[in-house]
Amino acid sequence: MFDKVLVANRGEIAVRIIRACQELGIRTVAVYSEADAGALHVSLADEAYCVGPAPDVRSYLNVGAILEVAARTGAEAVHPGYGFLAENPHFAAVCRAWGLDFIGPDPEVIERMGSKALARQAMLQAGVPVVPGSPGVVESVDEALEIAADIGYPVLIKAAAGGGGRGIRVATTPGELEEMLEAAQREAARFFGSGDVYLEKFLEDPRHVEVQIMADRHGNVAHLGERECSVQRRRQKILEEAPSPALTPAQRRTLCEAAVRGAAAVRYSNAGTMEFLVDRNGSFYFCEMNTRIQVEHPVTEMVTGIDLVKEQIRVAAGLPLSFTQEDVRPRGWAMECRVTAEDPDNRLLPSPGTITELALPAGPGVRVDSGVEVGSQVPPYYDSLIAKVICWGRDRDEARARMERALGELRVGGIRTIVPLLAEILRHPDFAAGRYHTRFLEEELLAASR
Ligand code: ADP
Ligand code: ADP
Ligand code: MG
Repeated sequence: MFDKVLVANRGEIAVRIIRACQELGIRTVAVYSEADAGALHVSLADEAYCVGPAPDVRSYLNVGAILEVAARTGAEAVHPGYGFLAENPHFAAVCRAWGLDFIGPDPEVIERMGSKALARQAMLQAGVPVVPGSPGVVESVDEALEIAADIGYPVLIKAAAGGGGRGIRVATTPGELEEMLEAAQREAARFFGSGDVYLEKFLEDPRHVEVQIMADRHGNVAHLGERECSVQRRRQKILEEAPSPALTPAQRRTLCEAAVRGAAAVRYSNAGTMEFLVDRNGSFYFCEMNTRIQVEHPVTEMVTGIDLVKEQIRVAAGLPLSFTQEDVRPRGWAMECRVTAEDPDNRLLPSPGTITELALPAGPGVRVDSGVEVGSQVPPYYDSLIAKVICWGRDRDEARARMERALGELRVGGIRTIVPLLAEILRHPDFAAGRYHTRFLEEELLAASR
């Protein structure tokens, strides 16, 4: 096992990783930007070093500065968290070249699955159903028009390197497709570092259901069941639950088996998520793979009892999975609410500032993964997620009631948060009934007022 791990991230996920290291007896090195000098992850780590000014390209994406800290402190491995360098194959390769273990899959696998177009090809080859669309990257307008005519409009133009809900456009006619393609390629090159785009059929009101995969370097691949992530705004998740209320046991089995087959086919190791879209008939289609720990991993931890971050570290150190597929027996129900610093009364605009008051919920079945404390600055430079509230119940109703109770206990002073909107979602009859799809939030709660 490692003696010392560098955590190349900030906020709640850096805190989460530090906690896992502490439980494993591993010393931790934090890095931070000038804007985060007083951050919680900095005070919780054994050592912390500033790696540059606030903008992420100069600090949390500053590979040279981060590796220098790793070398200076004698860290043996790097945990990238999510976002920032987590899905950057070059970073994973450079870590390797510096003799550091990257806590994630091999660079070759990140590269292949990180391109959403190449990942589609890999899954097609593995016999996993994929959203109808182009077999790979689309090069020309003529090619795009031909494929779109075949799959039918509307179609999505997606950036192969896109993520976080960005880099996706809808074309409803051949004219629109022709008009948008080049702009999409240009924008993708500028924002994601690759101009590659591909086409997908636009599915009507699908559900987003994803499967958690964990694999080691000894050929063991297991799934830890699925998560339902259809409560979204601008294609970004806001509230997630496990299991999905939409699947029958037979559908769940088929979906999870397909995810394992796909991961095994690319010789995946470490934690990963296979994202699927499920249509009204219950047919499912692979959408993309995230080759990292995800924001919503705690709901899976709550129902399986398996610590995914510790498992990631163990696997990166060369140990086999600490459990077998048969050991994974999800129990009860879990939900997660993402508490972001955004103003629900003002079009959900970011609400940075200083946290002047903080009361976190507690009590039976409640877990809070927070990256802040009283006095913390919420800088305007990064993702607005400040904390996650996760609740477990014996069944869905108990988990939901607990979440309503927990959100009622949460007080955040000094900044605005989306908690009022989260409470509205929990109370909505369609959500309470488990009947919702990826456009539920925008159609039901955000359409008129925001
Ligand atoms: P999850 O499924 O874990 O919620 P998200 O897609 O919401 O994943 O991304 C988690 C974090 O990673 C967010 O901060 C998001 O902005 C960031 N992120 C994900 N993919 C990219 C990308 N390709 N480029 C920039 N940021 C990304
Ligand atoms: P990202 O890499 O940004 O996470 P995804 O490809 O995972 O992008 O898509 C994000 C969300 O966009 C999905 O969860 C879903 O709500 C919506 N979406 C993506 N592809 C389709 C599609 N083909 N049809 C309908 N909605 C889609
Ligand atoms: Mg996605």
